[in-house]
Amino acid sequence: MKILVTVKLVPDTTADKRIDPATKQLVRSGVETVLNPFDEYAIEAGLQLKEKIGGDTTVTIVTMAPESGKEIVRKALAMGADDAIMISDPKAEGSDVWGTAYALAQAIKKNGFDLVLCGTQSTDSITGELPGALAEFLGVPGITHARKLEVEGTTVRAERETDNGYAKVTADLPLLVSVTKSMNTPRYPALKGIMGAKKKTIAIASLADSGVDKPVGHEGARTELIDLVSPPTRGKGEVFQAADAVAGATKIIEFLRERKLV
Ligand SMILES: Cc1cc2nc3c(=O)[nH]c(=O)nc-3n(C[C@H](O)[C@H](O)[C@H](O)COP(=O)(O)OP(=O)(O)OC[C@H]3O[C@@H](n4cnc5c(N)ncnc54)[C@H](O)[C@@H]3O)c2cc1C
Repeated sequence: MKILVTVKLVPDTTADKRIDPATKQLVRSGVETVLNPFDEYAIEAGLQLKEKIGGDTTVTIVTMAPESGKEIVRKALAMGADDAIMISDPKAEGSDVWGTAYALAQAIKKNGFDLVLCGTQSTDSITGELPGALAEFLGVPGITHARKLEVEGTTVRAERETDNGYAKVTADLPLLVSVTKSMNTPRYPALKGIMGAKKKTIAIASLADSGVDKPVGHEGARTELIDLVSPPTRGKGEVFQAADAVAGATKIIEFLRERKLV
């Protein structure tokens, strides 16, 4: 079984982020790049399936990112993935969700797949739209926000997180699933994995090599970022003075009732 895991390279979540006022894009240079933390759950899900299913099951990492991020991809290989495909091409710069999903889909189709696993969202653009768009381009069903995943033969059973609980869904392979943080605890790469990852293949492919035959990047972007604004600063909170806890709680409940919040 061929499992492919999409992985985004993002600026370190804890780093100060800056938007370039001219391009309105995130300044990525000078900021440490890491694996999108949400994608570690998808990698772990792929590795657990490989361990369970066995046989000739493989886990391949797929990313669209500059070649300079190659060593970050090795972390996914050190966790236990078999190999990686990296779409690296200057013409990919400026790709919006449409362009990113289209390019990834072409590379995934070219490689062949049974199951594609994604994180639920990135920590930089955070649209959460890519998995749905990718499933559409691949022409397969997409189960998003899965917290549990089982594969038996060609049948996939999953639990999707919803606002009020979860929904049980089944579908047949080939399929795409996006994985939430509730699914597992990603493993730390062990020393043996780190050493072994050095010998694993990271295949660098241009857009043309990946079978991308439509413009992506700035040229193909169908989305235009019109403006970026900071959220309004919060007003001061209201402090209640009360003689005791009961009087304090009563005041708070009255305050919330007036605003129809309880
Ligand atoms: C006009 C425009 C220009 C842009 N220019 C750039 C740019 O130059 N560089 C840039 O990095 N971003 C750019 N972006 C942002 C880019 O569109 C998004 O990062 C991308 O479409 C993925 O969306 P997301 O990050 O919100 O992913 P989400 O949908 O939040 O991510 C969900 C999952 O999709 C997968 N995924 C997302 N992106 C990738 C990827 N690249 N490779 C593999 N898997 C992935 C991961 O598994 C991730 O967990 C641009 C956006 C716009 C609108």
